[in-house]
Parts: sequence; structure tokens; C-alpha cells
Amino acid sequence: MTRHFNFCSGPAMLPTAVLERAQQEMLDYQGKGLSVMEMSHRSSDFMAIAERAEADLRELLAVPDNYSVLFMQGGATMQFAGVPLNLLGNGGTGNYLDTGIWSQKAIREAEHLDSAHVVASASDNRYTAAPAPADLSLSDDAAYLHYCENETIGGLQMDYVPDTGVPLVCDMSSSILSKPIDITRYGVIYAGAQKNIGPAGIVIVIVRNDLLERARRETPTLLKWKAFADNGSMLNTPATYAWYLSGLVFDWLKGQGGVEAMARINARKAAKLYEAIDASGFYGNPIAPANRSQMNIPFMLADEALNPVFLNEAEEAGLLNLKGHRSVGGMRASIYNAMPEAGVDRLIEFMRDFEQRHG
Ligand code: PMP
Repeated sequence: MTRHFNFCSGPAMLPTAVLERAQQEMLDYQGKGLSVMEMSHRSSDFMAIAERAEADLRELLAVPDNYSVLFMQGGATMQFAGVPLNLLGNGGTGNYLDTGIWSQKAIREAEHLDSAHVVASASDNRYTAAPAPADLSLSDDAAYLHYCENETIGGLQMDYVPDTGVPLVCDMSSSILSKPIDITRYGVIYAGAQKNIGPAGIVIVIVRNDLLERARRETPTLLKWKAFADNGSMLNTPATYAWYLSGLVFDWLKGQGGVEAMARINARKAAKLYEAIDASGFYGNPIAPANRSQMNIPFMLADEALNPVFLNEAEEAGLLNLKGHRSVGGMRASIYNAMPEAGVDRLIEFMRDFEQRHG
């Protein structure tokens, strides 16, 4: 068995130890004679799995008691619609910071409700730097401010938490659990699972309880945060196996020293990859240093004609899925929690060798 280093932006690499445990428990979960996949979501065994996962996530992120943690479906994309539907019931306008493609997708969903005001856009600098805090211009009737903490495609990460006096809503799909965060600064945090949480199929929503009463009437039940909060995220059949696997990841994270330990390793991994890019003269990354993503690192080759050669040779070297998003081109290395530092070291070695041979 060989497990390669997988740099996919999502679904992303999972810790081998987690997959091994799932494998061990696959046919017969803890002597119960059935797989987690085959359990009723209302069985006491599954309820224990679900509650444990939530408790571990709360512990990892220090989620205060006045916040609900919801396990929903439809991905982060569904929450692009869920945010305005759940927060604009009392009127007001959805305010949005635009730092890239995922921000824009969120904005588009609010536009469907005729309620999107863009407070600032990184388009002014071709999405290479986050707008400064002083440049955020909120509408008078702002119901919330939405932003994307880490733009997975562009590789732009925020270097500050906006502080504007209105509830802050954050898409943390590609950076949740990569470092400690102060939950109390946020009204709502949501994140698709398939990067730093677990397999695809779940989106986690962390919402301050006083914001649960603001849903628009037409909000579908399966998008209504309050309905999920009131029913332990068991309104209908949840993505049980993805929930269980997410729980295994949380358990693994605790064993690694939690998000503080992850933040140290992630900072080291990202710093050495950016250093290698900057030192080369052959590879380039256009993002302003303060906004360089710790999780998704796009890089261009000096000669674009070499892109397919790079990708082929990388794959042969066991370095998978380095192709950049089609809208950006070049390469992108996604280095979430489950990417070992050895994977980044191997990539850097490969990049140096490739440059020597082709540069
Ligand atoms: N937001 C961000 C920052 C993302 O990276 C992604 C997925 N790559 C999404 C939202 C959409 O997530 P999903 O595919 O789970 O709907």
C-alpha cells in the first residue's frame, strides 16, 4: 500500500491514522455487529458518535455555550443562500467583502434576494491583497458583514478580523481548525467539511443563539439554522458516515495537540514553501505577503508551456493534484492539517530539482 502526498484543494487528504481507524471499525463498529453506515441516525450508538463529535469540535475551537453547532448538508455553497435567508428576516441588507471567487459566489446568492452591498473589493488590486479595514464601507442598514477568511482558489487569506459593530459572518471552509480563532468575534461561522474537517457531505455552521430568530419566512426548513439547533441537527437523515469520520478527525486533532499545535506546524509548512517559491526566480506567487494563504498556495512557472510536464513528473514522484484552478492557471498546493510536513519538504525538493532540469 502506498499513500501519496495529495495536494488537492478538496476533497483533501485525510490523516492516515483516521482512515485506518475507520477501516478497523468498518464492518463491525465496536462489537455492535454493524457498520456506522448501517446504523439508524436515531440509535443510541449513533447519537453517542454525533454528540462526541460536537463536543470535541467545541473543545477544539473553544466554542462558548451561547453558540449552536450545526451539522448540515448542501456544502458551504448552500450556506451562501442560508446566510441571507437566516439573517434578513427583520430587514436590512447583507454586506459583503469581496476577496475572490468564493466571496463572489456568496454575494450572488444574496443578490437573488436583492440584498447585497459590497463593502470593499480586492478587485482594485486584482485580488492580490485584502482591502484595508478603513476601506470597508458598510451600508447604513447592514444586517451583517460576510467575508471569506481564506480564498481557496486565489490563495488570499485575511490578515485581520473585521470589526464593524454588525454581526460578522465568515466562510471558513478552507481554514477552519488550522489555527485558534476567537469565536466570540463572530455571529456565524460556516465551513464545508472536505478540507480540514472530514469527507465531503457535511457543512458545519457555528451560530450565536441570538441570531437564530432572524430567518425570513420563506426559508426552507432544511436551511433554517433554528430548526437544526432545536433538533440536534437531526431534522432528517444526516450524513451519518461523514459525521462519524469528522469525529475521528476531531479526535485525531486533539491527539496532535489541537489547533494551537496545528497552527505552529501550518505556519512552518507554508513559510518554507513560500520561501522556496520566492528564492527560485522560476516560480512565482502574486499575493501580498500579509495575505498569503497558509492553506492554499498557488504558484506559477516562469514558462507556462512546462505546466503539463511539471504535473506529470510530480505525479510520478507521488505528488498529486497540484494543478491550479482553471481560473488562475499554474499550480496550487493545498496543505491542510492532514498534509504532513514531509509532504511539503518533498514538494520543495521536487520543485528545486525540476527547476534545475528545466529552468
Ligand atoms: N467556500 C470556500 C472558501 C471553498 O473553498 C469552497 C469549496 N472549495 C466552498 C465555499 C464551497 O464548498 P462546497 O463545495 O462544500 O459547497
